[in-house]
Amino acid sequence: MPTDVICLVSGGLDSFLSAKLLMEQGLSVLCVHMTSPFFGDAEQCTKWENQYGLRIIHHDVSEAFVNMLREGPKHGYGKTMNPCVDCKILMLREAKKFMELHGAKAIASGAVVGQRPMSQRRDVMNTILREADVRHCLIRPLSAKALDPTPVEKSGLVDRSRLLGISGRGRKEQLSLAEKYLPFSGIPTPGGGCKLTERENARRYWMVLTREKEPSVKDFLLANTARQGWRIQGGNEFWLSFGRNKRDNESLRLLQSEDDVLLRFPGIPAPLALARHGIKWPKDMLISAAKLTLSYAIKALKESPKATVVFDRGGERHGEACVLADRNQLWEPPSWECIREEIRAWQKKVMEQKRPERNGNIPHIAAEKSADAT
Ligand code: SF4
Repeated sequence: MPTDVICLVSGGLDSFLSAKLLMEQGLSVLCVHMTSPFFGDAEQCTKWENQYGLRIIHHDVSEAFVNMLREGPKHGYGKTMNPCVDCKILMLREAKKFMELHGAKAIASGAVVGQRPMSQRRDVMNTILREADVRHCLIRPLSAKALDPTPVEKSGLVDRSRLLGISGRGRKEQLSLAEKYLPFSGIPTPGGGCKLTERENARRYWMVLTREKEPSVKDFLLANTARQGWRIQGGNEFWLSFGRNKRDNESLRLLQSEDDVLLRFPGIPAPLALARHGIKWPKDMLISAAKLTLSYAIKALKESPKATVVFDRGGERHGEACVLADRNQLWEPPSWECIREEIRAWQKKVMEQKRPERNGNIPHIAAEKSADAT
C-alpha cells in the first residue's frame, strides 16, 4: 500500500490522535513505533493496530540512542535524565529514512506547542526542525494552526483547515478527541512512558553511563533487570545485579558477557546474581555479593543462613565458597540526590564549554577522577 505520511507513535494519546486526524483526510498513514532500553514496547504494536485501526511498524533505535548518550546529548538533560531534544532529533532523522524508503511525502508527530517544558517550546521545536533537517516534511497535526504553515500544508498534501491549533499543557481537547477518534478502545496515557524521566531508573542508568568504560545497549538492558548494587573500593567500582524473580534470573543468564561472573546457589531456591566484569573482582568482593544475594533467598533462609555459592564464568564453574547470608553488605548505589548533582555538574560543564566538540566524552567519572589526580 502506498504511504503518504510516516507518523511517529510513542504509545501516548497525542501521537495516535495525530495519525487519526491525517487518516480522516484520506491520507495513507504508516505509523512507526521506536524502541530502546528506555522507552517503547514492540509487543504492543499489534495490539494498537487492532485497537486503534492503524498500520504500525516497530523500529529499534537502541544503538543510535545509546551512542547519543555516550557522546553526551548536545542539548542536555531535562528534569531527570531525559535528553528530550536530542531524542526528538534522533527519532525524526530515523523517521526520515522511513519516509524515503516508503516513498512518503511527510512525517507527522504528536508534538503540541508548549506542552512539555523541554522539547515542545516554540524555539526548541524550531531547533529540532533544523537539526533533524525535516523543515520541508514535518507536520504537527495537533498544533498546526498554532504554528506557521509548513511546506507540507502549502503543497496541498494536507488540508491545514482540518488540522488543529492546540497549545499548552491542558489535556481537555485531547481527551475529547479521544472519545471521537478512539472510541471504545480505552484512552492511552498522555505520554508513551519513558524510563529516563523516572528517578529510580535514572539512578541506574547514570551509573552505567558514567562508570562503565564503554556502556552498551546490553548494559542498559541489564540496568533494567533485577536489583542493582554498586560498590566502590580502592578507586574501583563494582556493579552487581541480582534477580527478584525467575524472569530476572533468566535475563541475567542472557545478558551475561564473557568477563562476567554468575553467582548461583545450587540446590536451594535463591536468586542468581551477575557480577559485571566479575573476573576482575577480588575474591572478597564476590563473597560480599554472594552474602547479600543469599540474604534475599527467603525460603532457603528458613532452613539455614549458610549456603554454597558457585561462581560461573562463560558457563563453566570457576570456583565456589561457603557464605553466610548478610543483608548489611554495602551495595547501595548513590542516592538520587547525588546522581542529580552529578548530572547538574555535567550540564554546567557542557554549557560553560558552549558545546564545543567534546571528543565523544561522556562524563566518565573514573576517567575524570584520574585526570584530576595528575
Ligand atoms: S521523554 Fe524520553 S522518549 Fe520522550 S522525548 Fe524525552 S527522552 Fe525521548
